[in-house]
Amino acid sequence: MAPLPWDQISAVLFDLDGTLYDQKKLRQRFLPRLGLHVLSRADLKLLKIISALRHAREALADGEISPFQDKLIADVAAKTGASPERVRAVLEDWLQTRPLPYLAPAKVPGVEAVFAALRASNRPIAVLSDYPAKEKLAALGLRADLVLAATDPEIAIQKPNPRGIEAAAAHFGLAPSALLVIGDREERDGQAAKRAGAPALIRGRDFERFDEPLFDAIPPLAGPGQ
Ligand SMILES: [Mg+2]
Repeated sequence: MAPLPWDQISAVLFDLDGTLYDQKKLRQRFLPRLGLHVLSRADLKLLKIISALRHAREALADGEISPFQDKLIADVAAKTGASPERVRAVLEDWLQTRPLPYLAPAKVPGVEAVFAALRASNRPIAVLSDYPAKEKLAALGLRADLVLAATDPEIAIQKPNPRGIEAAAAHFGLAPSALLVIGDREERDGQAAKRAGAPALIRGRDFERFDEPLFDAIPPLAGPGQ
């Protein structure tokens, strides 16, 4: 991969799931816990709800439905026969809260160093996730200057819609072309970046880890008058 054109990059926006931590690693540790829970309670409905939530989420992203959160709950409730309250509780408990302790051990190597190097180079860091991101970022021990989620009322739409990327660029007073997007899914992060007019790196395609030479020696951002 050619060196990154840092002279044209004024800020970096990271996706969270699959980008800052490895989802395969997380699942290897977390799925046995879920399996034990399901077996001990004979709660197969839980698996059905989790699976339906994942599928519905993808369908709502593909359809670029906005806002999507209430429709997600309603669609999954209708599909599984569970109450909307139960679906919401499963979403919060099993997809957001319970995985938190498993995130740090699955962190992609080198990510702290890249965050530190970006900060030292005077480039702000944004995180944009399709799921609430603040707790996950804290669980990873990382700090960003701007944390956005598709569930935020002012965004209310998932990638590949570019609204979140455009909001981050606007927040920093930048054109999207000056915002480097780093994600893990070409059809979500890559397409959203393309539509916003932002350059993108895709983990799994352009790099695997943040300690690769691609991220070495991030030069300082030349400010006005420099
Ligand atoms: Mg991702």
